[in-house]
Amino acid sequence: MRVTVIGGGISGLVTAHRLAPYHEVTVLEAADRLGGCLRATTVDGAFPEGLDIGAEASLHRRSETRELAAELGLDAVFPSPAHSSQVFARGRLHPIPKRTVMGVPADPADVAELLGAEAAERVAAEVLSPPVTGDVSLGDFLSERLGAELVDTLVDPLLGGVYAGRCRNLSLAATVPALLPAARSGTSVLELVRELIAARESAAATPAPVFMSLVGGINRLVPALAERIRARGATLRLGTAVDALAASADGWTVSAAGAEIATDAVVVATPADVARQLLAEAAPAAASLLSGIPYASTALVLALVEVGESPLAGSGFLVPPTEDTFIKAATHVSNKWPWVRERLPAGTAVVRMSIGRFGDEPRTWQDLPETELARRAFADWQRITGRSDRLVAAEVRHWDEALPQYLPGHAKTVTAIDAALARVPGLELAGSAYHGVGIPACIERADVVATRLLTENGQNHVSVDTDGTPLRTDTDENTKKEHE
Ligand SMILES: Cc1cc2nc3c(=O)[nH]c(=O)nc-3n(C[C@H](O)[C@H](O)[C@H](O)COP(=O)(O)OP(=O)(O)OC[C@H]3O[C@@H](n4cnc5c(N)ncnc54)[C@H](O)[C@@H]3O)c2cc1C
Repeated sequence: MRVTVIGGGISGLVTAHRLAPYHEVTVLEAADRLGGCLRATTVDGAFPEGLDIGAEASLHRRSETRELAAELGLDAVFPSPAHSSQVFARGRLHPIPKRTVMGVPADPADVAELLGAEAAERVAAEVLSPPVTGDVSLGDFLSERLGAELVDTLVDPLLGGVYAGRCRNLSLAATVPALLPAARSGTSVLELVRELIAARESAAATPAPVFMSLVGGINRLVPALAERIRARGATLRLGTAVDALAASADGWTVSAAGAEIATDAVVVATPADVARQLLAEAAPAAASLLSGIPYASTALVLALVEVGESPLAGSGFLVPPTEDTFIKAATHVSNKWPWVRERLPAGTAVVRMSIGRFGDEPRTWQDLPETELARRAFADWQRITGRSDRLVAAEVRHWDEALPQYLPGHAKTVTAIDAALARVPGLELAGSAYHGVGIPACIERADVVATRLLTENGQNHVSVDTDGTPLRTDTDENTKKEHE
């Protein structure tokens, strides 16, 4: 069977990787590089090994990325346990309380230093609300229960680090489903968090690292996947934007770069708005639902900084939207990741600053020249940290419309999209817009899509593992070769 994968981000590449041993796979990527939101830079040659200037870590508590990395022969690296993050509030940096679920503390006393005594008392005096049936705004739910200060100062910047969105706009069910039972039953969210944290603490004497990356950055998944995909005989075409998709008598016609490609099945692994345009005729019901998934834009500034004899403190900080700052977060990359520290010249550090949230007024930062964006971000970082280090080199990367916003009701929208597509044979959607924005969730969705295409198309030599991963049998030539 011929399968065309549209989009060469992590979702499209994992789909192609899973399908390539069994099918004739072609990946069509609009850009002149693979990886989408996974991208490397050398900061103008200042760090030749390469650093991430897109996604920079993956959840290690979920299995998908660590298993994929192991399958690709890549060794995981972990953040330094010696450094922790802070939050900038009321004009200074505070440690981020550790025993929380997305900022909701097991013990309100743990947030007193950050929020002040009065706001911590408001958290302790949780106001129960009636049970909710559907989905609600995470920020509104927690604000009603525990007060606006906790939401604005801690929950919002923590969630903003993942979605570049505001927690009052985001879905409780889709973003922090662990807290949903308290909303559904009208019971205490503090009590639920106490139980969740007790379970987490009793599960492991030495807690496993929450995040992982790779030497060279999490972007190293991309060349490793590309190499495997090519080795399995699939085609990767760059600079090939798909502009139309139409059902044909015996499958699909994909129009890209002035050519028409006949294929038996299509996996659309692009951002939702591109998917919406491509599906407009082929699957109009799904296309109209896709228009309900908006995206946030953000920008990153990666800076090499001369710190001399005065090393940076901590692994970085978050800034709540209520503080009047230009940057919304900074990561002290060389403190967070020991492999970066080991490769830097003495007396230097790498700092990554992020700018922009969903709903920002247009033309506030989006149109600034890159040098000005980097200058303002660095000046803000200096003001917040109280440091006067010299900027050696900086690189700016805009991520326009890159992060899907899971609004209240998101899960219902995705169920309806999946139901609409179930009626269209040979057409699948993968990507961060549906079942999770993080890398593990993208890998999981890609695995599900690939498994469905393999099983639907009579690949009786393919069996499926308990986790949904297609397994090859001993009769498969590729498997035999890999085991030799
Ligand atoms: C700045 C930033 C930081 C992030 N940090 C993290 C992190 O630390 N950890 C984490 O887990 N997640 C992080 N994420 C989220 C995660 O990286 C993304 O959700 C994930 O990589 C999305 O992968 P994808 O393949 O679904 O989509 P994308 O990466 O968006 O890839 C889609 C691809 O489709 C291509 N395309 C678009 N239109 C067409 C067309 N018409 N024809 C052909 N190709 C097309 C695009 O060029 C792109 O390559 C971050 C995201 C951003 C933007």
